[in-house]
Amino acid sequence: MSSVQLVAVSKMQPDDAVAAVLDAGQRVFGENRVQEAQARWQPLRAKYDNLKLHLIGHLQSNKAKEAVALFDVIETVDSEKLAAALQNEMEKQNRPLPCFIQVNTGEEEQKGGVAPRDAEKLMTFCRDAGLNIYGLMCIPPVDEIPDPHFALLNKLAKGLGLPNLSMGMSADFDTAIRYGSTHIRVGSALFGIRENTKSE
Ligand SMILES: *Cc1c(COP(=O)(O)O)cnc(C)c1O
Repeated sequence: MSSVQLVAVSKMQPDDAVAAVLDAGQRVFGENRVQEAQARWQPLRAKYDNLKLHLIGHLQSNKAKEAVALFDVIETVDSEKLAAALQNEMEKQNRPLPCFIQVNTGEEEQKGGVAPRDAEKLMTFCRDAGLNIYGLMCIPPVDEIPDPHFALLNKLAKGLGLPNLSMGMSADFDTAIRYGSTHIRVGSALFGIRENTKSE
């Protein structure tokens, strides 16, 4: 059995809670906003040289430059426009970062991600552009059982020959692991309930 990477989601968490998790040895963190992540992690980069920061929130292509400069993994590639902007910046900055394609498995209007039927087309575009696609990522609808969404992501990834699945959060990471998750993104179960629990 392969191991599962914990991505500790530090968005909107107080500094002391993040410091405690760093002290415990965790080095892989997830943030969903570029500016908030810059403020927190740019100073900490000097102290911890083996940090791996994952961008797990929606990215606008006009912020690709900042995102490529700060993050180590981009989990939310969901359009050709964004993929092209990221590839352009990665070349300019000489930072060829691993990326995930986000799939909107519930086809929710308000949510980022490519529709499942369009995942292959985006994958082909990314591959042709030279972007290093490493796996698929999803956020199931909050009001549904996640199982069919995790199963769908797993099936899509197999079909595309992608080895990594970023799926599972505090409430459902155990289920996600049963469906083959390789990267679980856990926030509140690790740090405590966020003070400002906005839905993303
Ligand atoms: C906030 C967030 C998480 C973590 O959520 P928890 O329920 O606190 O574990 C995981 N993934 C994404 C994309 C998020 O925005």
